[in-house]
Amino acid sequence: IPVTSILGVEVSKLDMRSTVDVLERAVASGKPHQIITANPIMIMAALESEDNMRAMREAELIVPDGAGVVWAAEEFGDPVAERVAGFDLLQELMKRGEQLGWSAYLLGAAEEVVQEAASRLQKQYPKVRIAGVRNGYFGESENAEIIANIREAKPDLLFVARDAKTQEPWIARYKEEIGVPVIMGVGGSFDVISG
Ligand code: UDP
Repeated sequence: IPVTSILGVEVSKLDMRSTVDVLERAVASGKPHQIITANPIMIMAALESEDNMRAMREAELIVPDGAGVVWAAEEFGDPVAERVAGFDLLQELMKRGEQLGWSAYLLGAAEEVVQEAASRLQKQYPKVRIAGVRNGYFGESENAEIIANIREAKPDLLFVARDAKTQEPWIARYKEEIGVPVIMGVGGSFDVISG
């Protein structure tokens, strides 16, 4: 995958379509991939916190989510093809999943928000099976139970909607154990989808 380096963070230069193609191969591989949607806030978080920087370094794919990241790549003389916004990538993955019969697990946000997001996504993408739904308000002591539940559900896609500071380190720490091929932090996306 062609990448451009922004303050030490390797951001993919692929356009949306090629990004989804890469992630289709990730699903086929069955091996865990963490997808980080890089915006300036996340890059700042990585510069300020070792856990966030490690997640960035170990991520299988970082896409240019923010206009600021697209701008920086251009400014540093190694531009990306286009902006690949996390919210759009979620939708494009659901579209591809619709053709290929994937399943998705939604983890994060408040209980009524994630339930409503799941029900709307199910209506919009009826051929994608919603393998599980879990709100994002849990502590360390619940990690094991949550991970076991996701493993059992065996989704192709896992969307994690928590705050930017915690979602990426959490995914990085548990991705091997979780074992889902495409794991992506989506921040406030469930709030947007649920309306
Ligand atoms: N969230 C969560 N658990 C938490 C904190 C936040 O599930 O412990 C959810 C929150 O409900 C929202 C999403 O994470 O759906 C993004 O939260 P917020 O906008 O506060 O984070 P930011 O994206 O601003 O970092």
